[in-house]
Amino acid sequence: MKEDSPFMTAAPVLVPMPAERAYTYAVPEGMLVVPGSIVRVPLGPRLVAGVVWDGAVERVEAKKLRPIDHVFDCPPIDHDMRRFVDWIAQYTLTPPGLVARMLLRAPEAFDPEPWIEGLQRTAIAPDRMTAARARVLETADGGLAWTRSGLAHAAGVSSTVIDGLKAQGAFETVMIPPRPVVAPPDPTYARSELTPDQAAAAETLHASASAGAFGVTLLDGVTGSGKTEVYFEAVAAALDKGRQVLILLPEIALTHAFLERFQSRFGAKPAEWHSDLAPKTRERVWRQVAEGTVRVVAGARSALFLPFKELGLIVVDEEHDPAYKQEDRVFYNARDMAVVRGHIGAFPVVLASATPSVESQVNANQGRYGRVDLPTRFAEAALPTLRSIDMRRAPPPRGGFLSPLLVAEMGKTLEKGEQSLLFLNRRGYAPLTLCRVCGHRFGCPVCSSWLVEHRFRGQLVCHHCGHNEKRPDACPECGTFDHLVACGPGVERIAEEVVATFPEARTIVLSSDLVGGVRRLRLELEAIANGDADIVIGTQLVAKGHNFPNMTLVGVVDADLGLANGDPRAAERTFQLLSQVTGRAGRTGKKSLGLLQTYQPDHPVMKAIVSGDAAAFYEREIAERERAALPPFGRLAGIIVSAETRQEAEAHARGLRRAVPEASDIFVLGPAEAPLALVGGRHRFRLLIHGEKRSDIQGFVRRMLADGPKLRGSVRVSVDIDPQSFL
Ligand code: ADP
Ligand code: ZN
Repeated sequence: MKEDSPFMTAAPVLVPMPAERAYTYAVPEGMLVVPGSIVRVPLGPRLVAGVVWDGAVERVEAKKLRPIDHVFDCPPIDHDMRRFVDWIAQYTLTPPGLVARMLLRAPEAFDPEPWIEGLQRTAIAPDRMTAARARVLETADGGLAWTRSGLAHAAGVSSTVIDGLKAQGAFETVMIPPRPVVAPPDPTYARSELTPDQAAAAETLHASASAGAFGVTLLDGVTGSGKTEVYFEAVAAALDKGRQVLILLPEIALTHAFLERFQSRFGAKPAEWHSDLAPKTRERVWRQVAEGTVRVVAGARSALFLPFKELGLIVVDEEHDPAYKQEDRVFYNARDMAVVRGHIGAFPVVLASATPSVESQVNANQGRYGRVDLPTRFAEAALPTLRSIDMRRAPPPRGGFLSPLLVAEMGKTLEKGEQSLLFLNRRGYAPLTLCRVCGHRFGCPVCSSWLVEHRFRGQLVCHHCGHNEKRPDACPECGTFDHLVACGPGVERIAEEVVATFPEARTIVLSSDLVGGVRRLRLELEAIANGDADIVIGTQLVAKGHNFPNMTLVGVVDADLGLANGDPRAAERTFQLLSQVTGRAGRTGKKSLGLLQTYQPDHPVMKAIVSGDAAAFYEREIAERERAALPPFGRLAGIIVSAETRQEAEAHARGLRRAVPEASDIFVLGPAEAPLALVGGRHRFRLLIHGEKRSDIQGFVRRMLADGPKLRGSVRVSVDIDPQSFL
């Protein structure tokens, strides 16, 4: 630390607040802090946890400073992580304090977990021996320390037997350290026999992980080609080198199967990290990652902010997945930030996908990323045959949503004792309810969206803010009874149709709002994998990564669903989602079929999927992006202005528009009312900033915000660099 006066040192401390820079605190005499130390400091009337940051402390009068209250007994946040926080703050235009807050999510873990009291055998023999006592002494003979209850359990005696022995001096009390959350992985535990293709791919990844320098490799392999097996070899290489590994997964529901698979390869599970962990486990994982006890973490995007001691590899599985984008407080894309983290830490990053993002494809094509291909499925399993069903020619019966062609194939699949999956990316029963008499539509009172009927729960629900109400019997507008109609299908309604058509089949509906949460979901997924269901109806949740051995038919109920909106990634997203979904079929070598119900069978996306010609699709999509200077050939930033009244939001957005700096290479579109004009009672307007590839879009937005109107009243402004959503 730099000294300001012979009597007082000071340190910059980043506090978890929307502060633009670190605040300066006095370091009391005798207290030792270094950059990265986690400390407790006074902030207004409160005490908060913060991180000692880098940089010189300006000369300040010592008596004006408030002192650091406490230094936690915790490994300091390392240099690379601090650079990472600074980088994200700069790039996303987020105050660094808010980014640092993501590092500080396990406050109970800042102090070490207390050691627990244990018992250890002494040389003293008890004066009277019983059979129970003999068993205890035999069990504890190895010199290991035991907990009282652990020893009693292992020896099959009651705890009072242990107490008796202790009273006699046969055991003494020792302190034992907290147990690791997971056992250490063994890189040589059970290496799979790889196919020649896989071995070549693994060799490339292994080499880059061993070299331990920065580099990004795109692992592009069709569904079921063994990408996981292959990147496990990179994980093994990093572990061999004594480095920690982070594996990012897009979906908690996928974690369980992944953990087991990891365990069969490495003999122990990785630590998991996501929002659904019990608080105690969460703290242990955080602490043990910092201390280096945990070697591998499999987790959601927030795992990027764990305080790794010696991180040496990041794998981003399903790298194209939109779930990697966080659109709340700090707007960041975990896939892109993983690459930044690798660059800062000088270690390799692997991006794996069967349907890579256009951005990663272009990076690989242009040589910035390496590329490893796995063009065929493991064990000669063929990819499903894909066909579109032209819904204009083979329409469903009145009131139904499944074409007779799809129903016929489902029947055949059922007869063969195999499984079908119907995919529809819509939760609930029906996306709109209206009154047949007066035309009243049920909308959310605080969002500009229709309420979705959830028939199992008897509710109308807003999917944006969670507002829900009981489905009434009468129209609230005209009062007519029993004339409300459901418009359009959700998964529940498809299930109804399936049950009516195949009453003897075992049908399961899966979506993220399943009663019973992640646990129930996991059980249902296991049940499907075990063959305990004939027909599965699900949202995008079932599209990702799962291995259902007996599934040979996939029907996409509405393949056009994602194509209609004005999103520049609509075609890419639809292609990815539909390829992933149909990729659930035929993973174990049985003949399989994927059917897409569509009203536009000639749409390029449908044709690309049906023909299986992914290369042609990407080529066309990349050319299209290049022509329109859209990412990755150009840059985008979204500005979202919201307020309690429409006038306030609009006035502020217009004020920002007027504050646009001079720039020949950057254009501003809008403000326009957002497609989701009202969310949670807040009115929303959007501006879109469109620049060239090398444009300083952050500098532009920064000046715009600085020169624009001051934030007043209920107005809030969010900046979304590289936006994925345009709603
Ligand atoms: P992807 O991630 O590309 O979809 P996976 O890694 O999940 O593919 O592999 C698909 C299936 O094939 C899994 O059940 C996996 O266990 C199996 N598999 C892949 N490669 C091998 C191999 N070399 N040896 C044994 N099983 C393999
Ligand atoms: Zn709402």
